[in-house]
Amino acid sequence: ISYLRFRNLARRKVVLEKLVQSRTEELNQANARLRELSRRDPLTRIANRREFNRVFDLTWRRCLRAKIPVSLVLIDIDFFKLYNDTYGHQLGDQVLLKVARTLSRVARRAEDLTARYGGEEFIIILPDTDGTGAFRLSEQCLERIRALGIAHESSRIAPVLTVSIGYATMVPTMDSRTGTLIKMADMALYRAKTEGRNCIRGIPDEFLPA
Ligand code: GH3
Ligand code: MG
Ligand code: MG
Repeated sequence: ISYLRFRNLARRKVVLEKLVQSRTEELNQANARLRELSRRDPLTRIANRREFNRVFDLTWRRCLRAKIPVSLVLIDIDFFKLYNDTYGHQLGDQVLLKVARTLSRVARRAEDLTARYGGEEFIIILPDTDGTGAFRLSEQCLERIRALGIAHESSRIAPVLTVSIGYATMVPTMDSRTGTLIKMADMALYRAKTEGRNCIRGIPDEFLPA
C-alpha cells in the first residue's frame, strides 16, 4: 500500500513540476511584454520619455568612459495646435504616428534611439556622433518630414507640415550631467522656433546652414 501511495505521490510531483514550469514561462513572457509596453508610447509605438531617460543615462556613462561625443536632436512640430484646430485631433494623432515613423527611420544605427519626448516633440540620441553628424541627421529629419507633404493650410510658414530642430553635442565630463545636454538642445530648439521655424539650430553652432 505504501509503495502504491509513493508512486502516486511521485507522479503527482512530476505533474506539479511541469505545471510550475509552464506557469513560470507564461509569467516570464508576460513580464517581457509588460516591460516592452512600459517602454513604448502607445500612440506612436516608439520609445517613450521614460525609456529615453533610461537609455540616455546609459549612453551618457558609456560616452563619458570612452571620451567620445554624444548628440541629442530635439524635434518639435510647427504650429501643431493649429493643425489640430483645422483638421481635428484624430488626424493630428495620425500625423504624430507618421512623424514618429519617419524620424525613427532617419536614425538607423543600432545604438541610436528615437523617442517621443512630449506631445508633439521628439528626441533622438546619437552616441559617438559629433556636431557635424548631428547637423546632417537634423537636415535629413527636416527634409523627410517636409517631403511627407502633409497639408497644413493654417501653418504660417509653409503649405505643408514642418518641424523645428535643435541639436546639441558634447563629450561628457565628470562635472557635467545628462541634463546639461538636454538643456542645450532645448535652447537650440528655442532659437529655431524664434528665428523662423522650419529650420535647424545647434549648440555649439558652427554647423549652421548658410
Ligand atoms: P510651435 O510652432 O510654437 O511649436 O506651435 P505649436 O502649436 O506646435 O505648439 P504648442 O506647444 O502651442 O501646441 C502643441 C500642440 O500639440 C497642442 C496639442 O493640442 C498638440 N498635441 C500634443 N499631444 C498631442 C496628441 O497626442 N495628439 C494630438 N492630436 N495633438 C497633440
Ligand atoms: Mg512643443
Ligand atoms: Mg510645436
